Amino acid sequence: MDSIIKLVPVFKEKIWGGRKLDTEFGYKIPAGPVGECWAISAHPAGDCTIATGAYAGNTLSWLWDEHRELFGGVEGDRFPLLIKIIDAADDLSIQVHPDDAYAAEHESGSLGKKECWYVLSAEPNQTIVVGQRAHSREEFAQMVDEGRWSELLNEVPIKVGDFFQIDPGCVHAIKGGTVVLETQQSSDVTYRVYDYDRKQDDGTLRPLHMAQALDVIDYDAKPLASGELPAAEGPVQRLESNECYTVDLVRVDGELGVATPHPFTCVSVISGEGTICGEPVAKGSHLLALAACDKLELAGTMELVLSYL
Ligand code: ZN
Repeated sequence: MDSIIKLVPVFKEKIWGGRKLDTEFGYKIPAGPVGECWAISAHPAGDCTIATGAYAGNTLSWLWDEHRELFGGVEGDRFPLLIKIIDAADDLSIQVHPDDAYAAEHESGSLGKKECWYVLSAEPNQTIVVGQRAHSREEFAQMVDEGRWSELLNEVPIKVGDFFQIDPGCVHAIKGGTVVLETQQSSDVTYRVYDYDRKQDDGTLRPLHMAQALDVIDYDAKPLASGELPAAEGPVQRLESNECYTVDLVRVDGELGVATPHPFTCVSVISGEGTICGEPVAKGSHLLALAACDKLELAGTMELVLSYL
């Protein structure tokens, strides 16, 4: 049985997208502005096809539904994570996501969306919007009405290697000139607060969702000052661990074995090249290690991000 599978990524054209998924990652992408590579996904809006092994040609959602034993029998009505690379050539909308409870009630049973970003590339003096400064729904609405965006939004400098955990209720926006690897709950529910009055090709504006946004924004969260990580103390650095996912950064220089006693492990190579359990990989490779894979044998000079439950 194949304990590690490869998937065919799904690419998403976006008004703010660019071409770096081709020029920096070598993916074969469609023409036009492409903003997202859904590298490991079983979401109905972008369900990856299995590329290798006995189940090749089927989708990841099919494998999850029909062969749960491959995922250690873990419970859940859908594959819970989604791994993306986001290429923002232009600014993403100012947005916020709901938690599971709000999404279940208002978005026909969808999951909420926790997400986190590991910064893969950023232009000099690049910033990102993480958090906001209003203390109540009324204050937020008023500041929006008055267009006091720079006062309202918490904008912080970013550089390659920074990391941001974005909880539901945290207003955020990735700005043009940034590429991130995103681990998120498998959800597509976004409430747009502001889209810079930007027109789509057909001349229309993308919809805003201010009422829902005002419902879900966390007015008590303290805006953070930076996404800088503490110095790593070993080859495996914990980036985040919460009830939805754990994310580790792994630096390989030579040979390294990393135990994966998880129902499944999403593996993304973010720089360099080498092998994973003998399989050649390079920057941009994504693998899904199933429950039968209890250890990743890594060799080469590369950085990986591992995401698991
Ligand atoms: Zn988001």
